Amino acid sequence: RASGPVVNQIAANGIARHADWYIQIRTENDMTAWTPDSWTRADARQMPSYPDAAALDAATDTLASFPPLVFAGEARNLTADLARVAEGKAFLLQGGDCAESFAEHSANNIRDTFRVILQMAVVLTYASKLPTVKLGRMAGQFAKPRSADTETQGDITLPAYRGDIVNDIDFTLEGRRPDPQRMIRAYSQSAATLNLLRAFAGGGYANLAQVHRWTHDYMGRSPWAKKYAETADRIGEALEFMAACGISPETVPQLAQTQFYTSHEALLLRYEQALTRQDSLTGDWYDTSAHFLWIGDRTRFEGSAHVEYLRGIGNPIGVKCGPSLEPDALLRLLDTLNPNRTPGRMTLITRYGHDKIEAGLPKLVRAVLREGHPVVWSCDPMHGNVIKAANGYKTRPFDRILAEVRGFFAVHRAEGSIAGGIHAEMTGQNVTECTGGAVDVTEQSLADRYHTHCDPRLNAGQSLELAFLLAEMLNV
Ligand code: PEP
Ligand code: MN
Repeated sequence: RASGPVVNQIAANGIARHADWYIQIRTENDMTAWTPDSWTRADARQMPSYPDAAALDAATDTLASFPPLVFAGEARNLTADLARVAEGKAFLLQGGDCAESFAEHSANNIRDTFRVILQMAVVLTYASKLPTVKLGRMAGQFAKPRSADTETQGDITLPAYRGDIVNDIDFTLEGRRPDPQRMIRAYSQSAATLNLLRAFAGGGYANLAQVHRWTHDYMGRSPWAKKYAETADRIGEALEFMAACGISPETVPQLAQTQFYTSHEALLLRYEQALTRQDSLTGDWYDTSAHFLWIGDRTRFEGSAHVEYLRGIGNPIGVKCGPSLEPDALLRLLDTLNPNRTPGRMTLITRYGHDKIEAGLPKLVRAVLREGHPVVWSCDPMHGNVIKAANGYKTRPFDRILAEVRGFFAVHRAEGSIAGGIHAEMTGQNVTECTGGAVDVTEQSLADRYHTHCDPRLNAGQSLELAFLLAEMLNV
C-alpha cells in the first residue's frame, strides 16, 4: 500500500510522536467538532418544518431552562446493566407504546403497562435465573418517523401525523400544523409519567411480595394467566422460605423495589438538544430526556443528523437494524457511535420480519463478532411484521411475531453470539390491535378496541404469552 513508507517514517520518528499525531487527527475529526447542535450541519430527515421560527426558539429556550428528567449517574448505571446483558449475564426487556399520546395520559395506563412489564420480567427471571433489565418505551416516546410526508383521505392531502409532540392526529389543516408548544406539554407529561414510574418502582408496588397482584382482571380467560399464577405461587413459596431464614423485602431492598429505566427514539432533535446537559461530575454531555435513546431505521443512514447528535451524548444508545443495513455500514456506525468500544453503550435492535431474519441477520452478527465490538443484540419482532387486514386495519399477526423471535434466537445460537433482549410495542390495556394469541384476536375483532396512535401493540395477554415463549428459549 502507498501508505507503507509513511507509516515507517513516523515509526522511525518514535512511537510517542506517532501517537500524538494520531490523537490530534482523531480529535479534529471527531469530538472537537461535536456540540449539542452540530447535528444541524448534517442531513436532518423525518423532522417537522415549523412555520414560526421565533415560536420554536422560544419553546426550546423554555425547555433548556427546565430541570433534567434523568440524571447522568442513572444513565451510567444503565450502561453497566447493559454491559452485563452483552455478556449474557442479564436479559433486556424494552417495551411500551409505539407512540404515547396526550389523550391517553392517565395513572391507570401507566400502571397497567408498568405491571405487564413486571409480570414479563418475573416470568423471564424465574425461568432463566438471569436478572431482567427493565426499560420502558415510556415517559418521552412521542415523536414518530413516517414513510410519507403527507397523508391523503378522499381528495384532501395534509401533512402526516408525526406524534403528539409535533402535531395532532386529527385530520385537519389546523391539527396537522407543527406546534412547538407541544414540546413543552410532552416534557410535562414525561415528567409526570417518570415521577409515577419512580414511585411504583421504589415505593412498594414492585415489591416481589405483590407478585400475585400484578395480574389484570380481564386476563382471566388466558391460559397464560393461569401459568403466571403458578409461577407466582412458586415465587411466593420461595419468599416464605427465605423470610423464615431472615431474608425478606423488609430486610433486602432488592426484593422490595426494582430499577426501571426509560427510553424513546431520539427523533425530534430540537427537543433532545434542549435537554442535553453537561454532567458536573465528568464533564460529559448527556441527553437528560431519558436514560436510553435510539436511532430509528429511517435515520441511521450515513451522514444523518441523528447519528451526529447521538455520537456525542454519554447515554447508552440503540440503533434499529432493518434488512437494508449492510455489515460495512453497521461497522462504520459502531466506530462512529462507540469509538472507545465501551461495553453497554451500544444496543443493536434488529427488525427484519419473520421471513427475512434467518437469511439477513447472520451477516451482521458475523461482522460484529469478527470486529469484536461489544454490543447488546435485541429483537424487535414488531416493525418487520406489519400487515394490512382485509378491513383496512394495520395489524401484526402474533404468530409472525413469535416466528421472528424464534429466528432471532436460532441465528444467535448458530453464530455463537448472545441473544440479549426483546423490544416490543405493548400496552397493559386490553386492546385488539395485533391478531392471534391464546385469547384469539381475529381480524373482525380488531375494530373492538383499536386505540393505538400509531402501530398496533400487544395486549397484556399477548405480552405475557411472549414472555413465556422467551423464557423457554432462554432455557435451551
Ligand atoms: C418504532 O420503534 O416505533 C419505529 C418507528 O421503529 P423503526 O425505526 O425500526 O421502524
Ligand atoms: Mn412503532
